[in-house]
Amino acid sequence: MKNYLLLILLVLAVSCNGNAQRDQEEKYPLTKSEAEWKAELSPQEFQVLRKKGTEPAFSSELNDIEEPGTFVCAACGNALYRTENKFDSGTGWPSFDRPIDEDSVDYRPDKINGYSATEVVCANCGGHLGHVFNDGPKETTGKRHCINGVAMDFIPDNE
Ligand SMILES: [Zn+2]
Repeated sequence: MKNYLLLILLVLAVSCNGNAQRDQEEKYPLTKSEAEWKAELSPQEFQVLRKKGTEPAFSSELNDIEEPGTFVCAACGNALYRTENKFDSGTGWPSFDRPIDEDSVDYRPDKINGYSATEVVCANCGGHLGHVFNDGPKETTGKRHCINGVAMDFIPDNE
């Protein structure tokens, strides 16, 4: 029985990796070549959005935003998060308990330091945003979307 379960887990792990590969290549509505992205994005944006980099903790101005507004993808402008779903996680990265809409982001299996994790990407351009963890606010969704500020732009409601 144990071996049987192990086999299922192995098969799942392999198929998840297969999906992640395919997703990256063709799934998203907006696709551009690496050269095009490089020309459009700042070096920091390119490193995070296209190369899955992570900005230094406490480096983003978006960390401190409390005014009402929308956080959009820095690469394509897709609306991702709202200020009312932002909370202070103490991690140094903008943190949200949910996206603006479940269709605005996509999730991909990932690994951080060898541990299974869930990557969050923009559902429109596939750009890397950050990761989602299950240690968010218990009184709401329990989710913590840990997002790189450099991957987003902020649009205040009064603009
Ligand atoms: Zn995008």
